[in-house]
Amino acid sequence: MTFLEINNIQKSFGDNVVVHDFDFAAQRGEFVSLLGPSGCGKTTVLRMVAGFERQTAGTVSLDGKDISQLPANQRNVGMVFQAYALFPNMTVAQNIAFGLKIAKRPADEIAVRVREMLDLIKLPALGDRYPFQLSGGQQQRVALARALAVRPKMLLLDEPLSALDAKIRVALRDEIRSVQRELGITTLFVTHDQEEALSISDRIVVMSAGRIEQIGTPFEIYNRPRTRFVASFVGVLNLLEGRITDPASGRIEVDGRELVVAGGFPKGQTGDAATLALRPEAITIGSGGEGANHLDGHVEEVGFQGSVVRIRVRCNDRMISLDSFNSRAAPPPERGTPVTLSFSHDVQVLEPA
Ligand code: ATP
Repeated sequence: MTFLEINNIQKSFGDNVVVHDFDFAAQRGEFVSLLGPSGCGKTTVLRMVAGFERQTAGTVSLDGKDISQLPANQRNVGMVFQAYALFPNMTVAQNIAFGLKIAKRPADEIAVRVREMLDLIKLPALGDRYPFQLSGGQQQRVALARALAVRPKMLLLDEPLSALDAKIRVALRDEIRSVQRELGITTLFVTHDQEEALSISDRIVVMSAGRIEQIGTPFEIYNRPRTRFVASFVGVLNLLEGRITDPASGRIEVDGRELVVAGGFPKGQTGDAATLALRPEAITIGSGGEGANHLDGHVEEVGFQGSVVRIRVRCNDRMISLDSFNSRAAPPPERGTPVTLSFSHDVQVLEPA
């Protein structure tokens, strides 16, 4: 059931169109990320949903009601920002109670809600502290509680994790997701971090230069990117350019070796240039190999990452990144080792698409 409907919204600042025809609908309870590089318009979309920015064209509906002309304080959405925008002169409990006080809720109801929220964010004992007495991660949890205390219809999160260090970031990310699930609240989450978007979202809207590039589940976005932009922005990607030798059977020549692509090249002719996309985990490393789907090269760099080892191999003048699982039985190959790369047949054809 559609809960949030963004109908072809646009935003211009003077002559500068920063959001073009953004059309998207979210289901009730969905967690959706807006993902894209800095300046692509993610925050502007979020601010239009929140009512902090007025769209140049289009409409926004929430729970069946057009909210596009309502001021922010009448939209019933909760928002958390990148910087911990807590009131410094108020305690944690007072911060959380703020919206309820403005709404003139009775004191006993406020006390109960504050308690519930402190439990929800797992800081039951910190109600009397001031923001300066909290860590960055704790402050963001309080900001989340403050946004949720008024029971908004929807939650908007604008890079809420980006000011935190890596470990806390991952912990808080998981916590935000579990709170969101517990409440079943529809959520839009802005991030430029692809790993964050992949791990937290039901669906991802990938944006570039004010436009939607692709909408899909993390699985679809990662495994079936529809454009070169999405393919390279989301995850490490190897692009192989070659010439089609037999479109029907999917044969293509890359650096004098033949690769075979499952599904063939329905849109290509013999002799056409084609671009293949390969994720690091679709490549295996060995020594020697005959026939199709092998390339020869030399190990150029080995990056030990714990459970996986990222290996960069030079094949002629191209660099190919692959991931191999760490094995206690044998250390990874050393720099300079001659190797043969093998590709799974499930290579994606980006162009001709
Ligand atoms: P970031 O991750 O850096 O915040 P973003 O994808 O959220 O980037 P937006 O903040 O939405 O991008 O900005 C999109 C574009 O709109 C940028 O080019 C920005 O300079 C421009 N922009 C945003 N707000 C205004 C404004 N008030 N006046 C003029 N231009 C603006």
